[in-house]
Amino acid sequence: MIPPIANNFVAGETAPGALDHVASLNDDGVKGILNLLGEHYDERQPADEDADQYVELIQEIDKSGLDCAVSVKPSQIGLDVGDDVFVENLERIVAAGDDHGVFVWVDMEDYTTTDVTLDAYERLVTEHEGGVGVCTQANLKRTPEDLERLAPLPGKVRLVKGAYSEPEEVSYKKKERVNEAYRDCLELMFEEFEGGIGVGSHDPAMIDYAKDLHDEYGTDYEVQMLMGVRDDEQRDLAAEGIPMWQYIPYGDKWFSYFYRRVRERKENALFAVRAVLS
Ligand code: FAD
Repeated sequence: MIPPIANNFVAGETAPGALDHVASLNDDGVKGILNLLGEHYDERQPADEDADQYVELIQEIDKSGLDCAVSVKPSQIGLDVGDDVFVENLERIVAAGDDHGVFVWVDMEDYTTTDVTLDAYERLVTEHEGGVGVCTQANLKRTPEDLERLAPLPGKVRLVKGAYSEPEEVSYKKKERVNEAYRDCLELMFEEFEGGIGVGSHDPAMIDYAKDLHDEYGTDYEVQMLMGVRDDEQRDLAAEGIPMWQYIPYGDKWFSYFYRRVRERKENALFAVRAVLS
């Protein structure tokens, strides 16, 4: 069982528990993006099993009538086993999403996986006329060029700052430089995309910048934040009428995800310590 302190960041170990969380979010106007925790499988069986679980989850989301998408990591559905395994499993998940009217996001992992992830996305989003989204990372120097390639496609693109420690040749390392790159990429998206922009950030400065760009260009966008991070702000943005999606991890592999959230911010660590002491 997940201890209460981790419940802030992870919506339980099972799909029904995660769907209950989405139902309460939907009541406040916030939509859900469910992520079954798991990554870097080096054998085919667990990758296929997680893909099966996504297909079942998509069926359950459809039955529930909830406003909810899913988000999947390439290495969770076989990328470390082989590109073909990843593409085959992603195809299955996207086809199920298409059948059941559930949107499928593809997370982005480290820079060595960008090409294969974008290639798979480009093919599937074209075959399925939207219904799929992909994440791009502002800390990678290549991203503006990738965004130019993605602009004419249907589907959606989530822009994040980037969570992986990448080599200097391919990425910006300084926080200020990453923030500048994030603004530049956002501007490019609002200028060139017809919609489908996902602002994946908790940063108030980036959210405000997106609002300004929306006023200037009129392009539609949504904001995406993680469960347990600025939850009140998420509800406030939804109340303002901005499409707000919460990324919600769940599943039995919750410990390493929770540990990452606690390590990345002093406030999260203090919260965890207080919860243990009380
Ligand atoms: P930061 O640059 O970390 O912080 C900027 C400001 O935001 C802070 O000064 C503070 O005001 C506010 N803030 C940030 N965190 C908190 C907090 N915990 N509590 C209160 N205020 C806070 N990365 C990938 O590489 N691939 C992915 O597929 C991916 N998917 C993501 C999906 C979503 C929905 C989100 C939100 C992030 C995703 N990320 C992904 C992670 C992302 O790359 C960043 O590492 C992460 O979002 C931190 O950057 P930030 O823009 O939120 O803010």
